[in-house]
Order: sequence, then C-alpha cells, then structure tokens
Amino acid sequence: MTDGEFDVLILGAGSGGYACALRAAQLGLSVGLVEKGKLGGTCLHVGCIPTKALLHAAEVADQTRESEKFGVAATLEGIEMTGVNEYKDKVVARLFKGLTGLIKGRGITVIEGEGRMTGPHQVTVRSSVEPGETTYTGQTLVLASGSYSRSLPGLDVDGERILTSEHALRLDRVPRSVVVLGGGVIGCEFASVWASFGAEVTIIEALPRLLPVEDEASSKALERAFRKRKIQVRTSTPFQSVKVTDDGVAVFVEGADDGQSVIEAEMLLVAVGRGPTTDGLGYAEQGVAMDRGFVLADERCRTNLEGVYAVGDIVPGLQLAHRGFQQGILVAEEIAGLDPTPIDEAGIPRITYSHPEVASVGLDEAAARTAYGDEAVETVTYDLGANGKSQILMTQGFVKLVRQKDGPVVGVHMVGDRVGELIGEAQLIYNWEAYAEDVAPLVHAHPTQNEALGEAHMALAGKPLHAHS
Ligand code: FAD
Repeated sequence: MTDGEFDVLILGAGSGGYACALRAAQLGLSVGLVEKGKLGGTCLHVGCIPTKALLHAAEVADQTRESEKFGVAATLEGIEMTGVNEYKDKVVARLFKGLTGLIKGRGITVIEGEGRMTGPHQVTVRSSVEPGETTYTGQTLVLASGSYSRSLPGLDVDGERILTSEHALRLDRVPRSVVVLGGGVIGCEFASVWASFGAEVTIIEALPRLLPVEDEASSKALERAFRKRKIQVRTSTPFQSVKVTDDGVAVFVEGADDGQSVIEAEMLLVAVGRGPTTDGLGYAEQGVAMDRGFVLADERCRTNLEGVYAVGDIVPGLQLAHRGFQQGILVAEEIAGLDPTPIDEAGIPRITYSHPEVASVGLDEAAARTAYGDEAVETVTYDLGANGKSQILMTQGFVKLVRQKDGPVVGVHMVGDRVGELIGEAQLIYNWEAYAEDVAPLVHAHPTQNEALGEAHMALAGKPLHAHS
C-alpha cells in the first residue's frame, strides 16, 4: 500500500468517525481519518460536552440559590459567564488533548482538510495545512460527516440576536430574556440552563408537547416542572416570523383562535433540529443512495455501494453521540470480519439533561400499544416521592415501566434530577429482555435513586413495597 492507501478511510472525525478509527486500528487495520475541523466533532466541541458543562454550572447556581432549604447559608451573587466559559472550555480542552493523544498513539493517520468523495472508495482532500489537493483511497470507505443546526425558511441566523446552539455556547453574557424555538432536547437543555442563570425564558413548540419523542407522561412532567421554574412553555404554537428590533427580537407566533401574538426578548435560539452534512460532498454523485440529504444504510451501516459504510448523524435515526460511537465500532468489526450484532435502535438510551432530567430506553406506552395491542401492554409508575435519595435531593418525578403482559420489559421512562445516571441499568433491562420477575429480587443499594428502578419492578412483578395503593 502507498501512503495514500488505507484499509479503512474515514470522512469525518466526530463520535462515529473516530470511534470507528480507534476500533479499526485496534483490530490491526490501517486507518486514514479525514477531518476539516477538530478531532471529536460536534459532541466534544459544540455539543454534548460543553452543554453538559453549562448544565452543571446551572445546577451549582440552583443549589446556591436554594441553599437555605438545606440549612446552608449562601447567596447567589450572579453568574460570571467568563468564568463559566473558562470552566466549560477547560473540560473540552482536556478531553480534546486526551483524544488527540489516543488517536496518535494508535497509529491512525489524521488527514487535516476538507474532503469529498471522488470515487467509490476515494476521498479528495483540500489540505488545511498546505496548498493543493490529495486523493486518498480506502479498501473500505466510512462516511461520517455529521450534522449542522437547521433553521427555517425565512429565519436568518445572525449569531447576535438569532442564534444556533453553537452561538449560544459562545455567549459572553446571560441574556435578560430569550425565546427558544423548539421544545426538543437541545431547546429544553438551553431553556433549563438560562432559567437557572436567571433569564426569562419562553419555549415555543409547534407540536402539542415538549420532547415529542418521549413518553407522554415524561413530556407532561417536564412541562409541569418547567412551569414551576417560571419557564413559559407555549406548545401547539407554530412560529411565524421574527423581526430584529432595537433591543432584541420580536417573535411572531400563531396565537389562540388562529390570531397572531408576539413575544419580545433579547435573543432567539433556533433549536429546530439538525440536518445531515452531506451537501456538496459527492455522495450522491458517486451513487450513494440518499433520502432528503441523509445517507441510507442497513442495520450493519452498509450503504448501497460495496465497501462503503455510513455512521452517525448522517444516517436517519436518533442523532446521539453514543449511537455514532456504537455504529463506528460495529463498522470496524464488520470490516474486520467479526460479524458483530446489529444495533437495536430502540435499545439506545436517550437523556435530556435538563432540571429535572428525562431519560428513557425502549418503547413508550403509545408505541408499545401500537406494537402489541392495547390488551397486551401493562405499565407501572413508581413515584420518586417514595424514594429516600430523591427526597434527600428534593427532586420529584417517576420511573415508568412498560411491558408486554407476561413478557419482558419493553420500555423504561424516568423523570427527576439525576435519573440520567439510572439509564445504565434500565438499558440492560431492556436490551437483555429482562422480566420484572428477574429484576425484582435483585438488591439495590440504599439509599440510592436506583432503588426506584428496583421498586418499580417489584410493583410490576405484583409485590410493591414502598408504594401507596
Ligand atoms: P459529528 O460529531 O458532527 O462529526 C462530523 C465531523 O465531520 C465533524 O468533525 C466535521 O468537521 C467533519 N466533517 C464534515 N464534513 C467534512 C468534510 N467535508 N471534510 C472533512 N471533515 C468533515 N448527543 C448525545 O449523545 N448526548 C448529548 O448530550 C448531546 N448533546 C448535544 C448538544 C448539542 C448542542 C448538539 C448540537 C448535539 C448534541 N448531541 C448529543 C448530538 C451529538 O453531538 C451528535 O449526535 C454526534 O456528534 C454525531 O456524531 P457524528 O460523528 O455523526 O458527527
């Protein structure tokens, strides 16, 4: 093989691309990894990690504000965004350094520059370090070019008043007031941060509920909790237009009775989803089957072209970093001939890291009823009010289980601060097709929030302990 030839050539070094590179190198394959930005992609630099750092700072602010409830004398004097950003950027920088070292240590060739597919197994790269273009070849090619923040027709993001999540992560001040367009995961997380930092927040969502892909009970609980936190939630409210004013924005929405109403704020965050980064990358020209910009791939991440795979946000489905990681690992193992088990999309855990958190795995109640029929589905909801640790933390919420009657648990849905940490056990229960009767006898440490999962399974197995009838 020459310098420009690899066993595996990967376009994009985000969660999907770099996970594939690491696993392929571990399996003894030579790897070329093309990246125009920074190793780690969206998740590390402008996604999961920096947003969760902001959410942690927000939790510290809330705890300080509410410290009196715990008998601790402290006063929240304000939010210094310079300090918050320094903390957030340090977390990102440490992880970036670690990842860069790891990739170098595994002997992966990083090709810095902007690539496009120019042959069935070829990528031509315009280098970002030297002039000119070079073409690289792979025995196999992995497309992993990720996603970008979408906007709506006529909605021009200016980065000053009208922001995407990337701009929001770079803000050097807390807005006095903000309208969040979109009640999905990213919208709810930013709404939560800004409310904790003291901003007036309004969420507008065209659909009837927040987090529309979650179980309806979770959406309702989050909406209640947000309203208690004085976040204005306007569901079933389609956005119409926005005007930049002298001191902010005027956001026009469809009001009651089809009339129009206007919400004024300092800024508007556009959080209406993420589109696939595939435009102009040569995929369609090379014959890769696509649908509305997404790359179509089967359960083994194979595209319609022999030896060409696709992973991460460019493949229709959940746009989550851990899905991308797992697809990347799967592809590397597939290329190495290990015949890995395909990924069950429903078994991918989902978390919204707001205050309170929303976490789930498997089917929601409505999907289970559609899949198995009304008569064949049972649910149980265990209120965190009976869970000692949740009382200590002063958080409210629930664990809801969905199962096939006399069958395995097919869905776990949770709301409450820190419930995201319970998803590890929940996903094992779902993915190992556990029955409530299998989980009920397992011992959960006391006092933990995990006990709520144990208690919910005891209730589903017909032997509730700390549950009021
Ligand atoms: P990306 O991470 O987008 O990586 C693609 C890479 O390809 C990029 O580095 C890009 O520079 C590169 N690239 C693109 N085109 C080219 C080209 N032509 N040449 C060379 N390189 C190119 N997910 C979670 O699981 N948990 C979370 O908490 C979470 N929070 C999020 C918060 C926000 C605000 C956002 C925006 C996303 C969040 N996500 C979260 C989603 C997560 O970031 C994505 O699902 C994940 O990054 C997708 O990985 P990927 O490898 O498909 O793409």
